Amino acid sequence: MSEPFAGRQAAARLALERAGIDALLLSVGADLPYFTGYEAMPLERLTMLVVPRDGDATLVVPELEAPRVPANGSCEVHSWAEGGDPIGVVAGLVGAAAGVAIGDHTWTRFTLALQAAMPHARFVPASRITGTLRAVKDSAEIAALRAAAHAVDAVAAEMRTRPFGGRTERDVSREFVDRMLAHGHDRPNFAIVGSGPNGASPHHDAGDRVIGEGDVVVCDFGGTMRGYCSDITRMFVVGAPTSEVADTYAALTVAQEAAVLAATVGTPCEAVDAVARRSLQERGLADAFIHRTGHGIGLEAHEDPYIAAGNATPLVAGHAFSIEPGVYFPGRFGMRLEDIVVATAAGPERLNEAPRDLAVVD
Ligand code: ZN
Ligand code: ZN
Ligand code: ZN
Repeated sequence: MSEPFAGRQAAARLALERAGIDALLLSVGADLPYFTGYEAMPLERLTMLVVPRDGDATLVVPELEAPRVPANGSCEVHSWAEGGDPIGVVAGLVGAAAGVAIGDHTWTRFTLALQAAMPHARFVPASRITGTLRAVKDSAEIAALRAAAHAVDAVAAEMRTRPFGGRTERDVSREFVDRMLAHGHDRPNFAIVGSGPNGASPHHDAGDRVIGEGDVVVCDFGGTMRGYCSDITRMFVVGAPTSEVADTYAALTVAQEAAVLAATVGTPCEAVDAVARRSLQERGLADAFIHRTGHGIGLEAHEDPYIAAGNATPLVAGHAFSIEPGVYFPGRFGMRLEDIVVATAAGPERLNEAPRDLAVVD
C-alpha cells in the first residue's frame, strides 16, 4: 500500500485497540481522504470505509462512483450495484462488534440505519480516534499548509494597496475570493469582511454595508489548496486610525505575539489560550475577547487541537493551529489578528508572513 495511508491506518488500528473499539466507519468528510486519498461525494447513496481493528480496510462504494476511487492500494473496494444493500454490506464487514467509531460528518439517515442493523454495537464519534492522529502533521502536510499560507499572504499583501472606501463589504469579499483563486487555491472557504460595527460580530458575513472613511475592517479569509486549508486575518482601516484604534491594535498585536511564542512543544493548549487572555486583560481588554485563541487546521479549516480553555492536550511537534485573538466592541468595531503556527522541536513557527501592522487604505 502506498504511503502515507498504510501508516495512518496502522495508527488508527492502534487507537481502536486502546479505545476498545472494533471498527472505524468513515463516510463523507476529511477522515476518508486522510486514510485513502479518496473523498466521498455527499450522496444519498452510501460510501463507507470500514477499518476493522484486526483486518484490512474495505471501501463500500456505489458502483457508479467506483471509477473515481484512486488505485493506490489503500483499501479493498467493494462496489454495490443500484438497488443493492450497502447497509447490510457494512454491517457484514463489521460483524459482531461491541463498539464502532463512525465519522462525525456521516449523514444521520445512514447512522440510524447502521444502528438498526447493529443493535448491540455502541456508536462513538470517529473524531475520538481520528482527531488526535490528524492533528499531528507530517512534513508533506506541513509543506501543503505552508504553500496555502503563502498564497493567502500574497492576497493580504496585495489588498493593502487596494481601495476599500466607497465599496460594499460584498464587493471587497469577492475580490479576496478572486485573488485566492488567482494564487492557486482550488476552493475559497470564506472571506469575512466586517466593516465598522459589523466587525464586532466575529463571523460577520460580508453584506451590503458601504465601507466609509475611518472604518476599521476585519478581513478573515481562507480556502483549500491541494487539499489543505489556509486561514488568515488581517486588519485594515480607511484613512488614518484614531489613537484608540491604534492603541487597541497595538495591544492585540502584543497578545497575539505572546501567544505565538508560548506555543512550544509540551505546553498545554489551554496555557497558550491563557497567555493571550492575560495579555489582553493587562490592558483592560479581557471582556472584549469573546472566543478561544485558535483551532487546528489541516484537511479541514477547523480541527484538533483547539487552543482553548479546558483543553489540557500538550502541544507536540507537528501540531498546526491558528493563533487568533480578537477584541469586539458592539456597535463600534472589532479587531482580530490571525496566523497559522506549527509547533516544532525548534519552537513555534508561523506559516503566515504577510505584514501584521494595521493597513491604512483609501
Ligand atoms: Zn473563526
Ligand atoms: Zn480565520
Ligand atoms: Zn481561524
